[in-house]
Amino acid sequence: MDEGAVIREILSIPHRCCICERLDRIEFDYMCEIQYQVTRNDDVKSDFIKKGFCNYHFWCIASLTTPEAIASIGTMLIENDSFPSTNNCLICEYLKRIEAEFIDESVKNITVTTSENAVRSAMRFCQPHFGLIMKHINGEIAEYFSNIQKLHKEQLLGELKGFVEKRDKRSERNENEGTSWWRAVEKLVGRKGMWGK
Ligand SMILES: [Zn+2]
Ligand SMILES: [Zn+2]
Repeated sequence: MDEGAVIREILSIPHRCCICERLDRIEFDYMCEIQYQVTRNDDVKSDFIKKGFCNYHFWCIASLTTPEAIASIGTMLIENDSFPSTNNCLICEYLKRIEAEFIDESVKNITVTTSENAVRSAMRFCQPHFGLIMKHINGEIAEYFSNIQKLHKEQLLGELKGFVEKRDKRSERNENEGTSWWRAVEKLVGRKGMWGK
């Protein structure tokens, strides 16, 4: 493979945390599915009555379904005296399971010696996911991985500075600079609604 092309590709995409990015899509699909299933599928319904949604996911669901669907969901919970607690959420539970699989997969990709460096270098992580991965690796691999993350941090810093400096000449901002502000938030605290609450 043309290494230059790989690097160009890596540099052309907005650099999000690769786990947060995948979870965002999965979360959206799952929320669409669950809001439909919760009033129609008896197994999902009884699981939902036991667990409910956390504050964050309840409001997300409310914004993507109809008022009538929310009225049915509300009726179901209130009739069953099922009041959501921050410890339980059908959606958080599902996402935590997938997230754990992604962490395992990332650790494998980082530690398998046959992984190409270009693949490793393209794996970016927010600080919370970086911390979770570091718990599973050590020695030279951990050092190499930390150094890659430092490079990503420096690159993001450069993009953030470019974004701020070009406040009066917005058209000169490149794509990465344009998204740097919200990627900085993701870098620091992870994706919006990570781990619910
Ligand atoms: Zn992340
Ligand atoms: Zn939740």
